[in-house]
Amino acid sequence: MKVLVIGNGGREHALVWKLRQSPRVTQLYCASGNGGIAADAENLRVDLKSLDSLIALAQEIKPDLTVVGPELPLTLGIVDEFSRRGWSTFGPTQAAAQLESSKSFAKEFMQRHHIPTAHYAICNSVDEVRAALAHFHMPIVVKADGLAAGKGVVICKNKEEAISSAGEMLSGKMVGDAGSTVVLEECLQGEELSFLVLSDGERVVPLVAAQDHKRIGEGDTGPNTGGMGAFSTPAMLDPQMQNWLLQHVALPVVAGMKAEGAEYKGILYAGLMMTAKGPMVLEFNCRFGDPETQPVLMRLESDLVEALEASIEGRVSDGDFRWSNDASVCVVMASGGYPGSFEAGKRITGIDQAESVEGVKVFHAGTTQRDGAYFTAGGRVLGVSARGADLKTAVDSAYEAVSRISFDGAYYRKDIAARGLKKG
Ligand code: AMP
Repeated sequence: MKVLVIGNGGREHALVWKLRQSPRVTQLYCASGNGGIAADAENLRVDLKSLDSLIALAQEIKPDLTVVGPELPLTLGIVDEFSRRGWSTFGPTQAAAQLESSKSFAKEFMQRHHIPTAHYAICNSVDEVRAALAHFHMPIVVKADGLAAGKGVVICKNKEEAISSAGEMLSGKMVGDAGSTVVLEECLQGEELSFLVLSDGERVVPLVAAQDHKRIGEGDTGPNTGGMGAFSTPAMLDPQMQNWLLQHVALPVVAGMKAEGAEYKGILYAGLMMTAKGPMVLEFNCRFGDPETQPVLMRLESDLVEALEASIEGRVSDGDFRWSNDASVCVVMASGGYPGSFEAGKRITGIDQAESVEGVKVFHAGTTQRDGAYFTAGGRVLGVSARGADLKTAVDSAYEAVSRISFDGAYYRKDIAARGLKKG
């Protein structure tokens, strides 16, 4: 079968790598792909921000299955448009993707359906922010309503900071139109966990859990990024907690969306804070996470195509995924300066040597290939990933691989999975 993956980052490289292992996949395309993806799939040019461009491409290559990586095409309605034409496409519709594309929609939806989440207020002006702040303790979290690639959340120590951040969002200065509405949210304390399920609109089946590292600096300091690394272990989520999250988060979301006429198919990703009072939902994503997909798919032993089809065809069941009991980790190597400004075009060396470390796979995020060599082409450049019998083995292998790769200005966190290692 012919499969088309939409996207160009590390998550899409992991999807392509896993789909390539399916005996059913005979032709694999990625639009627009990146330097490393080219080794596993045929890269095709497309404008990921344009539905017309995506439709024209699919019309040309006629895929049997399209797998959408990033949130933007889902929010633009790629699944609606492709499905209307009879093209089998994995992911939620535009209406269902509102769970990610509008934080105010998600908060009000959670309130309607009694899904545990932080206390919040939705504001459309600085005056509304000032008035709402009276009802919150400090620190407080200020969030842009729309898609902001991880850059629309600011944790503010006091009211002045909150007013200033909300003002920058509302004026369009910080994240453009995504900030024309802001959500104020009680600041929660605890450990974060990503809980992902596969849904067919009615039934759900969990994926293994993962933890990511959003901040740029070691010890979770500095500004938020798209994600600097992630890891996944069998011990991360015990069966009781997994069942609780299914009953109190995943199933109510899927039932609630169906009841509201926006059936939710695809990956439902709940970003959770495990607080002293129990798990609370911080956000929903309507697709695989990046970089969590890299360690999660490294632990998947069954055929990904079968699972994606079960979601599209409305027959999700417990047998859709078979997981390894190994641990896995992904260390992101980024361009110096990220998440601020950075220079691209640096030559990358050592990827083959890195991949010769046992259990290692290097997923490309922001790279291009020229004359047989790889060059940096983005903020997050590589996701150096490893699987091992235990977390320490996986982490040691990943960092050994990282030490073999170099490019001018390379930056990575040295403490990815440190919390997991401490727990033993
Ligand atoms: P979000 O895009 O909503 O997941 O927010 C990005 C990151 O900001 C999260 O992964 C958390 O680290 C942090 N964050 C978001 N909401 C809260 C909250 N209510 N309390 C504490 N931290 C938060």
